[in-house]
Parts: sequence; C-alpha cells; structure tokens
Amino acid sequence: MKNFTFTLLLSIACLFAYAQRPAADHETVKGGELTIQPITHATLVLSYQGKNIYVDPTGGAAAFTGLGVPDMIILTDIHGDHFDPKTIDAINTNHAVIVVPQAVADKLPATTDKSKLVILKNGDKTNQLSIPIEAIPMYNLPESATAMHTKGRGNGYVLTIGGKNIYISGDTSDIPEMRSLKNIDIAFVCMNLPYTMDVATAAKAVLAFKPKVVYPYHYRGQDTNQFKALVNAGDKNIDVRLRDWYAGAK
Ligand code: ZN
Repeated sequence: MKNFTFTLLLSIACLFAYAQRPAADHETVKGGELTIQPITHATLVLSYQGKNIYVDPTGGAAAFTGLGVPDMIILTDIHGDHFDPKTIDAINTNHAVIVVPQAVADKLPATTDKSKLVILKNGDKTNQLSIPIEAIPMYNLPESATAMHTKGRGNGYVLTIGGKNIYISGDTSDIPEMRSLKNIDIAFVCMNLPYTMDVATAAKAVLAFKPKVVYPYHYRGQDTNQFKALVNAGDKNIDVRLRDWYAGAK
C-alpha cells in the first residue's frame, strides 16, 4: 500500500510537471516529425526520429518529466538561465553529445565526460546525430568589453533537422549576423532588456531575416502580443507562435 501511495503521488507530481509547460508542437518534416517542446524561458527540447535534443536545460530533472533522455545537449552561454550545472548533473547524460562554446566547456561539472564535448566557436560547423549544426554569434550592441554578452563567448545555433533550418538565438541584440540569416524555417528569438533587446527591436530583426515560424522565448516580463503585432504588421505570413514559457513560474 505504501508503494501504491508513493506511485500515486509520483504520478500526480508528474502530471503537475506536465501541466507546468506548454503543449508541444508537431511539425511534419522530411523523414518524420519534429516535436518542439518549450520547457521554460530559454529551455526547450526538440525531438526527431527518436532523438532528443535538450537546449539550455534548466529546472532540474523534474522539468523534463515524461520526456526521453537527451541524445544531444546544446548550450549557448555561461549564465545560469542557460547553463545550469545542477540540471546537467541531474539528467541522464550518458548518451548525450554536448555542444558548447569554450567558455561553457570551461565551467562544466567535473563529472561531465569530456569525450562527449563538441566545442564550437562562432561560425564553426559540425554534424552530430546526422544533424548539421552551425554556431552563430550572439552578443550585445553596442559591442563593449563590459557588455553582458561579449562577442565570441556564447553561441546561437542553426540546426538542420529533417530539411528544416532551426535558429536558436541565445542572448543577443539584433546583430547583423542574425539579420542576414537565410532560409530559416523556425526561429527562437530572445527579447528582454537589459539582457538582450526590446520587443520592437526583436520584431525589426525578425522582419530582416523573415523566418517562416518564430517563437518569442527568453521574454520574461515583455509584451509578446506587441511583438506579434509588429511582426505581422510588417509581414502577415510569418507565423508568430506565442506560448506560455513561464507557466511553471506562476
Ligand atoms: Zn539569458
């Protein structure tokens, strides 16, 4: 009975964890389905052909309840809302390649298997799990040695999954490298001052590279309805997907 009660409580806890994050989106792509699971703030999981890619995992193991273990972990930068050593220690990383900039590699827990690391500089490309990955710069404007995000330290990424190009901005201003991106199908774009950019600037940047789909993420405290209105005033064909990335924080 004790076991039964424990299992019941655990199930309820899991259901509660499920309820804390938005429903996943499912895209038909070449070779199958791409599942996009927002977790929180800058954290998401992409799944394709049975492989799970955790992007900037935070929130401990509980945040990933019900999801498969990671086959790949992608980290953008050193700050705690992107790189959380406790979460990395808590999730099962036995089968995961870990794609990082050098600054993150330098701070990984000692327990991390360094043979699993793929260290990328801005502009570097790699292919992991048959997924082409390119590291894109992410930094604040105006450039400054004292900026919160200095050029060259962190990586945004473009992943090509099932023929779709997926851009993850990381923490950045509306840098020329973002504005000049081509053929982006799905973009995750940050917006919050003073760390990244305001909603109007993010909308202008998105209108410069015109992804087919854009998810505002990393937007704590910002008016994403305004972002959507600004983007669609400039281009009504861009699918702006508003999801509650802070459901778990309420
Ligand atoms: Zn951040």
